[in-house]
Amino acid sequence: MSDCIFCKIVNDEIPAKKLYKDEHVIAFLDIAPITKGHTLVIPKVHQESISAVPAEYQQKMMHVSSQIGKAFVRTGEYDGFNLHLNNGQCAGQVVPHAHMHVVPRIGTDGFHWNWRNLSYEENEADEIIAKFNEKFSI
Ligand code: 5GP
Ligand code: ZN
Repeated sequence: MSDCIFCKIVNDEIPAKKLYKDEHVIAFLDIAPITKGHTLVIPKVHQESISAVPAEYQQKMMHVSSQIGKAFVRTGEYDGFNLHLNNGQCAGQVVPHAHMHVVPRIGTDGFHWNWRNLSYEENEADEIIAKFNEKFSI
């Protein structure tokens, strides 16, 4: 897509600090990292939603992301990593080209997810599953 910043990185029209590329994906450092080494793994095809990305590209995104996380841990600089994907503006997606975040972590890096712990009312979980099952297909 001509006005997509990540397609421009795929096509070498704008620079990026690339770590890896193959026929399906490229990986490059995030320009404003959560931790140093924060990497984005993107499909070479333009789709805004991860669910619209062809399965072989999705599979490669996950495989490459986990291997990049493992490599950062092997450097000895990190103890673990987060894989994180924002899908949709309401979910925090800013760049409308699907991408996986790989965030290398150490316990002292000072970053915390703003997690919360809700609970289900009686029957609520079963109702959610019933509605989901009406729509789910794979
Ligand atoms: P999102 O919020 O859409 O999941 O994440 C988009 C990410 O892309 C952000 O972490 C942001 O820092 C990164 N980003 C945006 N523009 C560029 C760019 O031009 N180059 C690089 N390397 N990263 C970018
Ligand atoms: Zn794109």
